[in-house]
Amino acid sequence: MSNSYDVVVIGAGPAGYVAAIRSAQLGMSTAVVDEFVYKDGEPALGGTCLNVGCIPSKALLDSSEQYHKVKHTLAAHGIKVKGVDLDVKTMIERKDRVVKNLTGGIRQLFKANKIDWLQGHGKLVEQGTVEVRDIEGKTRRVKGGSVILASGSRTVDIGAAPLDHERIVNSDGALEFTEVPKRLGIIGAGVIGLEMGSVWNRLGSKVVLLEAQDEFLGPVDRQVARVAQKAFKDQGLDIRLGCRVTGTKAGKQVSVHYEDKEGKQNIQVDKLIVCVGRRPNTEDLFAEDTGLVLDERGFVHVDEQCRTSLPDVYAVGDVVRGPMLAHKGQEEGMMVAEIIAGKYGHVNYDTIPWVVYTHPEIAWVGRTEQQLKSAGISYNTGVFNFAATGRAQAMEETTGLVKLIADAETDQLLGAHIIGPQASELIAEAVVTMEFAGAAEDLARIVHAHPTLSEGVHEAALAVGKRAIHKAN
Ligand code: FAD
Ligand code: NAD
Repeated sequence: MSNSYDVVVIGAGPAGYVAAIRSAQLGMSTAVVDEFVYKDGEPALGGTCLNVGCIPSKALLDSSEQYHKVKHTLAAHGIKVKGVDLDVKTMIERKDRVVKNLTGGIRQLFKANKIDWLQGHGKLVEQGTVEVRDIEGKTRRVKGGSVILASGSRTVDIGAAPLDHERIVNSDGALEFTEVPKRLGIIGAGVIGLEMGSVWNRLGSKVVLLEAQDEFLGPVDRQVARVAQKAFKDQGLDIRLGCRVTGTKAGKQVSVHYEDKEGKQNIQVDKLIVCVGRRPNTEDLFAEDTGLVLDERGFVHVDEQCRTSLPDVYAVGDVVRGPMLAHKGQEEGMMVAEIIAGKYGHVNYDTIPWVVYTHPEIAWVGRTEQQLKSAGISYNTGVFNFAATGRAQAMEETTGLVKLIADAETDQLLGAHIIGPQASELIAEAVVTMEFAGAAEDLARIVHAHPTLSEGVHEAALAVGKRAIHKAN
């Protein structure tokens, strides 16, 4: 293996592996340093996303959704199913297989693109030099014409609920339960809390979520958050807001002490998941004397094009500012590779979609009404309920709505907020429209197939101009 490359990447999550593949495509010799070891003891590419994040959580969300459908929703279609059994072991094994297929796929892509994978811990020791420490502690130094830091993030721990990895776990542990906990506590009703809470709730757990904020899903459009809160309540998720967890005691079960506006409270659960956010992986990532600058929140400081404070050192993904989302990191990885190769690289941070993979799904892009109000921008909204579309009725999936927000003067689309079936796919239409600086009118004039859920987007666009067909405007 060489000791000198055009590009050396630290971290093989979605930000790092995409940066590496694009660099190799552009003709640059590339190496990636990654230290991740999967639960079976095998080193694995793909980072948090493929091993313990996006992919395994979506695999379990899908399995649990199938189970829930068979048990509860098929009856409405006239399908009676008896004797439904749950096999958690097989469900977890399927999830592991999906993960292995995908991480193995990245390994193949590295081979095909002649990317060297240097297993171990990477540290920027001086500009253009990365020290790699392998599992036995042996070190070697590799030179990189450019270095890309893509070390990702890890879960935030809280003193009131220290993990014992048995009863009290983080999101990694929540993907590995061997049986359905009768009572499941979750600290933090954010994205992970709602997704993992949905999985185990569908499989039969009694789930209580303790959320510190008084407002449910703060970053989400208020109208959408209200629909979500009601839907989750109807599903049996017990979401308690304004809770300050003060202590936990783990024995045969976990006792969780917290305070809300009514005073001191206590719940007993069989498992407790702590998911109160993630923080950037910067420990032992760079030598102090390199002079690499972190921002006030501890992320690697970068400009719009992911340049750090050091020449030829870039940083991408969760370790830098912006939403902690796989696709955001991937786009930054591509941008940086193109810039290093002397081409044009760009990420439009205003059109990054968000998705929460609950049922119904929640997806949004751009700005909310609250944000536009506080920025003093006048706007028009168009809202359309899925219940009024033929396809949603046919699917028995009528909860939810599409809400589009357009500039009052120019009609340019400023935000799209969807809760409902396939929201994760439908949001792409709004992203494309916004990327091309399109107007609600543009969407309204585009032919949408009938009967589809995308007619909800079409009707919402018509509703911005108060001319939706299938509702009273
Ligand atoms: P990571 O994926 O964290 O990868 C960083 C890699 O670098 C890891 O392999 C790490 O071991 C390695 N590393 C770190 N430091 C070093 C070092 N010094 N030397 C060598 N190697 C190092 N996002 C979505 O967009 N959609 C989702 O549905 C979604 N679901 C999620 C579900 C869960 C449960 C979790 C936890 C996260 C989820 N995310 C989701 C977030 C997503 O996983 C992250 O945004 C994404 O993985 C960040 O990519 P990254 O490449 O920056 O870092
Ligand atoms: P989050 O920021 O989404 O939610 C954390 C929640 O915990 C917040 O609502 C916060 O108010 C609350 N909280 C914080 N401290 C608390 C405390 N002491 N007690 C009670 N509540 C507390 O973070 P997360 O759910 O841990 O997920 C981390 C990140 O991973 C997300 O921000 C997201 O970027 C990424 N992720 C994305 C997806 C997706 O795209 N579908 C899925 C999972 C994770």
